[in-house]
Amino acid sequence: MDNKIKSIEAILPPPASHMVGDGFKVHNFFPSNPRIGLNGMSPFFLLDYGSKWLVPPSDKPRGVGVHPHRGFETVTIAYHGKVAHHDSGGNSGVIGEGDVQWMTAGAGVLHKEYHEKEFSKKGGLFQMVQLWINLPAKVKMTPAKYQSLEKKDLIKVFLDDGKSNVEVIAGEYDEMKGPATTFSPVNLFNAKLLKGDKARFSFNKNYNTGMLVIEGEIRINDSETAPEDNLILFKHDGEDIVIEAVKQSIVLVMSGEPIREPIASYGPFVMNTEAEIKQAFDDFKNGKFGYLED
Ligand code: MN
Repeated sequence: MDNKIKSIEAILPPPASHMVGDGFKVHNFFPSNPRIGLNGMSPFFLLDYGSKWLVPPSDKPRGVGVHPHRGFETVTIAYHGKVAHHDSGGNSGVIGEGDVQWMTAGAGVLHKEYHEKEFSKKGGLFQMVQLWINLPAKVKMTPAKYQSLEKKDLIKVFLDDGKSNVEVIAGEYDEMKGPATTFSPVNLFNAKLLKGDKARFSFNKNYNTGMLVIEGEIRINDSETAPEDNLILFKHDGEDIVIEAVKQSIVLVMSGEPIREPIASYGPFVMNTEAEIKQAFDDFKNGKFGYLED
């Protein structure tokens, strides 16, 4: 590769965690971080990271009750533990370890998210990511839909040693396309690297790019190192990134074309104008998101 290096903007340790419902203990890397804000990682709007947590056994599954979404997509990645979901469209399912659920809320959906029943009974190690990916104005009101991407559906691109690999969820790595369809250009990968192995990435200069160290520790561009649970943000000065696993590592790689539109957001709604936020609340109150039992 002859492109210029995309250099590091910042390495962020996880901010203090908070609970979403009683089941998801998450570090919000953005938009709560003022240096990122609502647009700093666009099209990625929100990153809630549930770092490793030993969940005590419970007969009543922990989680978050019925709530609406409109105007964006939620991408839930389960690294440890299992998440069950139900929605107002009658859909339900379980996101198992290694699986990804790509939900397009679009015009609107009501759903609830809980620890899966059997997992909840036994308790155990839980680690997950929920990313919110914004939708361009012209498709914000697209009908809600799901892409349930099981571990086996994800595309594995093996590196030279035949063991380390880059798992492609969305977008393209080394000319291999991931299974998720997106409404704007988005790359989402899990790089799974054995100690000492390197992976190279190349993204458009203007794309917003970040890497979350899910496990292990990595050296970036032969310079700085980032430990587990840290988010690396990149500048817009080049295309190429190389990461090396200081220890056996898993890295969530996200890079996408910014959606250059105004954002109005409140709670579970991400729209373009305040009037659209008000409309979302009115529609929610008037039952236009459908019905779902608690
Ligand atoms: Mn939700």
